[in-house]
Amino acid sequence: MNTILKNYYKSMGISEQVFDYCSEIEKGLAGRFHEIDRVAECNQMKVLRAMQNNRLSEACFAPTTGYGYNDIGREALEGIYADVFGTEDALVRPQITCGTHALALALMSQLRPGDELLSPVGKPYDTLEEVIGIRPSNGSLAEYGISYRQVELLPDGSFDYDAIEKALNDKTRMVTIQRSKGYATRPSFSVGQIGELIAFIKERRPDIICMVDNCYGEFVELKEPSQVGADLVVGSLIKNPGGGLAPIGGYLCGSKECIDRAAYRLTSPGLGKEVGATLGVTQTLLQGLFLAPTVVKGALKGAIYAANIYETLGFKVVPDGRESRHDIIQAVEFGDPVLMKAFCEGIQAAAPVDSYVRPEPWDMPGYDSQVIMAAGAFISGSSIELSADGPMKAPYAVYFQGGLTWEHAKFGIMMSLQKIYETGQINLNKAP
Ligand SMILES: *Cc1c(COP(=O)(O)O)cnc(C)c1O
Repeated sequence: MNTILKNYYKSMGISEQVFDYCSEIEKGLAGRFHEIDRVAECNQMKVLRAMQNNRLSEACFAPTTGYGYNDIGREALEGIYADVFGTEDALVRPQITCGTHALALALMSQLRPGDELLSPVGKPYDTLEEVIGIRPSNGSLAEYGISYRQVELLPDGSFDYDAIEKALNDKTRMVTIQRSKGYATRPSFSVGQIGELIAFIKERRPDIICMVDNCYGEFVELKEPSQVGADLVVGSLIKNPGGGLAPIGGYLCGSKECIDRAAYRLTSPGLGKEVGATLGVTQTLLQGLFLAPTVVKGALKGAIYAANIYETLGFKVVPDGRESRHDIIQAVEFGDPVLMKAFCEGIQAAAPVDSYVRPEPWDMPGYDSQVIMAAGAFISGSSIELSADGPMKAPYAVYFQGGLTWEHAKFGIMMSLQKIYETGQINLNKAP
């Protein structure tokens, strides 16, 4: 078996040294992988139960056009999301174009002129800087007279409760908590930690809307932030919950009040959730959700495998090889643009689509430095599929995520190591 596998990898460009090095690392991960299998099993039941309880039927898959009145599939889809996330209601639409759009919708629908938004977890994800108006932009919250305040994390990555208490004021209307680290090297937060932070805020100000940017966190743990007090959780369907099949979309799950406001903003006051044709994507969105716990499981195994390989080679990895996981992102700090590019070239070369192209840094809209991205995905830009990206600036950290199957994630990481090995800058001769 091992020989057959080794021959396959060899025929695809993996050298014996890389194969042997990676095999040694994999042997040490059986216990971790078993735990991940158990979480996926629970989350699979959670999704299946929601589908059954909402009486999902074949009729739900029929496309609607035009206004999309009485779209029973859309109603089932939103009911299922609400059940999976443990919320009163949900808005799950192909008209939500991406994660940033879903988050902008969440913020702009809940906040009114004169209100203040607070981030108690430091700087939000890059693209939200323009939504909020931290970097001036057309149509930002700042242009509507909505102010923003942020409290940095303490040096050890924990919440600065004293400063958060001081930052709360009469204008504070909403709090935004980003679960995943994004392009930062802080730790990602567990659902338990997010629950503690929300409880702290709600004890002082029960009227504040607590929103969680749940991107990359879905199905990593047994619970979602909406099950520990968040009023609104938000994410992208071309990440975890779309299971790699969703071709577009975003979701918001939360209280009925919050979802009503978001629906009136997405479509129009007076129309809300009643319109929005689904054009035939409902079946794919649901099938993707059905597969999502398994897909996230593969991506998580890939992240842990990568962490252990690169940590053993002496690079800084966040999270480290043993830490518990709260999202599917793995950061590896190369401290060197050549190694960072080689890593991305390996991920690209391992892809099922566009494997023959070489990734190059480019000026991506919404980001303040050049970004390099490796992705050869079935769905354009999908980062639940094996992908790697990062801003081309010190510390030259690459953010690696996804993999629709563990087998593919594993091959991608081996290929990344192969490309790095070929730069001549690392030594694989000593056993890990
Ligand atoms: C990906 C991501 C976003 C933005 O989503 P896009 O779909 O890229 O617009 C926001 N927040 C976090 C934490 C993310 O990972």
